[in-house]
Amino acid sequence: MSYQCACCGQMHDSLPDIGFAKPEPFFTVPKDEREYRIKLTADTCVIDNEEFFIRGLIEIPVHGQDATFGLGVWVSQKEENFANYVMNPDSAEIGPYFSWLCSDIPAFGSTVNLKTRAHFNGINLRPTIELEPTEHPLSVAQNEGISIEHAWEIVHKYIDK
Ligand SMILES: [Zn+2]
Repeated sequence: MSYQCACCGQMHDSLPDIGFAKPEPFFTVPKDEREYRIKLTADTCVIDNEEFFIRGLIEIPVHGQDATFGLGVWVSQKEENFANYVMNPDSAEIGPYFSWLCSDIPAFGSTVNLKTRAHFNGINLRPTIELEPTEHPLSVAQNEGISIEHAWEIVHKYIDK
């Protein structure tokens, strides 16, 4: 569905997901130490063999749209749950696992260390990340949805730069 953007005035087609390539703790490791302290793949990140992160998707309903707005984020996992996911990447039978949000999305305020649960979906699908229901703007967005205008504003903020 074509949409005339309230943010930039142009016509847009489908809303893209936005994503984060690395969890926030990645950036706390000095640049010259990352190579030997961090193991990073498209779906997992391990720091010092003691901090474990996985990539998942926060789905935000968009008012009046069928498709959700996806935020590709990182969450922490405790070691045994991380290991279980790595051994069973295509299983929908594991979890849900408690996790802390490890991506910063300033469009929704301060989001690092929000409580979440990771739900595992099986083959070729990233885990779905469910925010703890609170008054936090990101949790409210997941529960109540956001306007298409707001979604595009966020896309421009994160993708176009
Ligand atoms: Zn636009």
